[in-house]
Amino acid sequence: MSTCTVESLREAVRELMPQLQADLEHLVRIPSCAFAGFPREPVHEAAEETRRLFAEAGMQTELLPIDGGEPAVVGRVGEGSTRVLLYAHYDVQPAGDLDAWTTPPFEPTLRGGRLYGRGAADDKSGIAMHLGAIRALQRVLGHVPVQAVALIEGEEECGGPLPEYVLEHPEIAQADVIVIADVGNRAIGEPTFVTALRGLVDATVEVRTLPRPAHSGMYGGPAPDALLALIRILDTLRDENGDTTIVPGHPWQGAQADEAEFREELGMRPDQPLLGTGPLTDRLVTRPAVSVIGLDAPPVEGAINAVIPYARAKVSLRLPPGTDTQMAMDALCDHLRDAAPWGVDVTVTPGEQGRGCAIATDGPAYEAARWAMEQAFGKPSAEAGEGGSIPLLAALADVAPGAEIMLMGAEDPGALIHAPDESVDLEELERMVLAEALMLARLGGLLSE
Ligand SMILES: [Zn+2]
Repeated sequence: MSTCTVESLREAVRELMPQLQADLEHLVRIPSCAFAGFPREPVHEAAEETRRLFAEAGMQTELLPIDGGEPAVVGRVGEGSTRVLLYAHYDVQPAGDLDAWTTPPFEPTLRGGRLYGRGAADDKSGIAMHLGAIRALQRVLGHVPVQAVALIEGEEECGGPLPEYVLEHPEIAQADVIVIADVGNRAIGEPTFVTALRGLVDATVEVRTLPRPAHSGMYGGPAPDALLALIRILDTLRDENGDTTIVPGHPWQGAQADEAEFREELGMRPDQPLLGTGPLTDRLVTRPAVSVIGLDAPPVEGAINAVIPYARAKVSLRLPPGTDTQMAMDALCDHLRDAAPWGVDVTVTPGEQGRGCAIATDGPAYEAARWAMEQAFGKPSAEAGEGGSIPLLAALADVAPGAEIMLMGAEDPGALIHAPDESVDLEELERMVLAEALMLARLGGLLSE
């Protein structure tokens, strides 16, 4: 034990990194994909190994049964008046196309300071971040100066039942601060809080015009073409500039996205167009964005000269943070119905909805967190928006309305989460471990000037 200073914690985290890397590699070796059809043993092994690691860090641990799902790992440690919930998930995306991986997905490999493997970033880096922060505090202080509860879920990637569990068991989420370590900085070395998440609604639109295909030579002309009707409907989803108009948006106040970097992340040439008007970050975060994500129509191969009697499409609408999802779903469905041309029959079926989130950052814990990030990275933090919606967030905000929610983690844009060659930058992970340890110390009443 030593005096708790920024430097003693920095030193402790540095010394702890080799073991933390080894533990992360151990977790990455377990193919804990919880999607239907994948074996359950690795999922349970990942839960148990995560539990063991937290127990070895001095936490009281249990595997919490979740109705209709995989168990969550819960670990409790510490004292003090501040309650902090530390969230991550131990399940991973499927590996996908094995040939697209430079090294096998479940054989963690170090290249250029990055640890490659499925789940290395999403979200076993989140487990490592919490584990490292607890270990560093234990090493320097001999205890954890806040009441910390780690909650590590096992079915995040496949939309598991934890959000419902939280709604039914609100006691699990009672905290002053909730850290969701399932995101990343906007670039390596750029400390970032994700403070805006888009919501999502989708719907399926079907057009049926005829009971069967009709020979286009004999009937084409007056015979109503379902595919053409569907294309006219879909064409109204964006205006002539490529802007989505179905629900309103608003300007973004946080860090601005860089267009050149954006193009590079997408693998786009500089002369290819981007859709929409106005600031890029508005288009990415605070304005609606519609996509056609599926289309059923006869394939070109084997196409015959017939008027198409039936076609359908799935339409997905990303929503500005804070948009009411039911309102948006109604607006999308009404829009699709109203856009039907020529009086054809259209059936619109509402699909999934996920609530977005606009996070307040003016509380005392955010002050501690901004200070901690600046100490760990040597520069002030920024706020950014992120595309994916996190269903758990809405549940947490409902049951713990007073909690300050923080989305921070080690998944930088180069982490390629959900894609082949997923990886985490180990120095970035080290800085995030330090940032979390410093924040917890400060929340525990230490390290204040
Ligand atoms: Zn994740």
